[in-house]
Amino acid sequence: MEDRTIFHKIRDKEIPADIVYEDDEVVAFRDIHPKAATHLLFIPKHFVASIDDVTPETAHLPGMLILKAQLFAKEKGITGYKLTFHVGKGGGQEVFYLHLHFLSDQTV
Ligand code: 5GP
Repeated sequence: MEDRTIFHKIRDKEIPADIVYEDDEVVAFRDIHPKAATHLLFIPKHFVASIDDVTPETAHLPGMLILKAQLFAKEKGITGYKLTFHVGKGGGQEVFYLHLHFLSDQTV
């Protein structure tokens, strides 16, 4: 049994979030404490706790999140952004459900 995090509950629509994009593989929503004009979090629907827990079987997930972020940016006309994974407590990770931070000075 996986420990259910706040992002499991956002993924499963048990708690509200400002979802900006969703498909079969990913959910993207606004960070509740934004650190840029646009601060989104991209999570895979398939649970992995952290980059630290990625295995050969799940190694496609970080790249998939990056691709979804790239496509989202193109679709919204965002020309510059930062992508970050926090890895482990020492890397500033607070929520142990793999997520890609997407930050831009441009607003969507
Ligand atoms: P981490 O430090 O784990 O990489 O980032 C977790 C992020 O999740 C933080 O930037 C934090 O503001 C955001 N966050 C934590 N709880 C919630 C929540 O309930 N809703 C949303 N939308 N974001 C959250």
